[in-house]
Amino acid sequence: MEIKAIRGFNDILPDEIGKWQFVEKTAREVFEGFGFSEIRIPIMERTELFSRGIGEATDIVEKEMYTFTDRSGNLLTLRPEATASMARAYLEHQIYTFDPVAKLYCIGPMFRYERPQKGRYRQFYQIDAEVFGVDNPMVDAEVILMLVHFLKRVGLEKLELQINTLGDRVCRPRYREELKKFLEKKSFQLCEDCQRRLQTNPLRIFDCKVETCQAAIANAPKVIDFICDECEKHFDKVKEYLKMAGLDYIVNPKMVRGLDYYTRTAFEVVSYQLGSQNAVTGGGRYDNLFKEIGGLDVPGIGFAIGMERLISLLPKEKEFIQYPHLFIAALGDETYKKAYQLINQLHLQGIRAELDYEGKSLKSQMRRADKLKSRYVLILGEEELKKGRAVLRNMETKSQEEIPMEDLVDILRLKFLPD
Ligand code: AMP
Repeated sequence: MEIKAIRGFNDILPDEIGKWQFVEKTAREVFEGFGFSEIRIPIMERTELFSRGIGEATDIVEKEMYTFTDRSGNLLTLRPEATASMARAYLEHQIYTFDPVAKLYCIGPMFRYERPQKGRYRQFYQIDAEVFGVDNPMVDAEVILMLVHFLKRVGLEKLELQINTLGDRVCRPRYREELKKFLEKKSFQLCEDCQRRLQTNPLRIFDCKVETCQAAIANAPKVIDFICDECEKHFDKVKEYLKMAGLDYIVNPKMVRGLDYYTRTAFEVVSYQLGSQNAVTGGGRYDNLFKEIGGLDVPGIGFAIGMERLISLLPKEKEFIQYPHLFIAALGDETYKKAYQLINQLHLQGIRAELDYEGKSLKSQMRRADKLKSRYVLILGEEELKKGRAVLRNMETKSQEEIPMEDLVDILRLKFLPD
């Protein structure tokens, strides 16, 4: 039987890869322009890092992690997100001794055992950016500005920035209790999962998609009415700095991010581009995470962008596929040798050239050049070659010119490699 990929694990094929490379390149450019550096972290960690960092009573830790015991009996997990690993690396390598403020980003696959459907996979890619070591609300706004700027740079439109505050370890427990009291009266309306969440982590009920749970929580108390003075001041400052950066936002009091470690600022960017609402990315501040994983008390803020979802929203008209600059159609054995020398020379210059390897007729070579969407075809015939010339055909305008072979590389470089 033919072996297929695992359910929820996707191949990204050559005709899609242009979009991925474009998104990654833009992320690097934008983030590095904001002073961020790339970090690469392992794909697997000790399970404890996630169970303590993300929180036991979250969907991810309860039922979505790929966890197994290795041959030495270590309990390991494929990373379901990047923040905890980045925080671990910051502590483990004492990055703070060089400078307490670290601005880091990371691009790579994450793994969650979720029910696969369109836009939701078991291996999916995220772009993560985090700032460790600053609790100033100015950084919250800076990170959000970078995110919105990035999304616009890749071509997303109709974006809406939603923000909320989740309180901190002083005021959130109070809110949690109020919410619990409120929902206990409506517990008969809650789904089985939310009945359990009510005891372990009632804030999670906001994220439940079940209609009766949504109805139960519709008039629930809002966290914003319970936050302490410090959190309120922080939130006011974030809003002020967002305005100063020229960013519009709406406060969405029902947005509570799914992971336990979030405190204070939470944000999501929603796109209305395809008609319906699409959450492309979310993030927030997490001033408890570092302590949870056994480290110093370091504040942090960051976001994760789901790449599959982002790519599905990219404007269709953008041209991402890289077509050959040139197809060399060679006729006859001698010309083949010349074509081989030529194509090597072109490749070393960075000119994307293709060759027919099968000695087919000119007609069929031209057909292939057309199918590959080559911009030019160089027709190498024996007669012309003796004179040191070849025919260069522009496949778009269909115009042809005879050119000296020694000028070919220069001509093509001028056309395709402007620098
Ligand atoms: P989270 O880490 O849960 O805050 O998710 C951040 C972003 O990652 C989301 O907005 C999604 O775009 C993306 N994402 C999360 N889970 C999945 C998944 N299973 N498949 C595809 N994308 C996902």
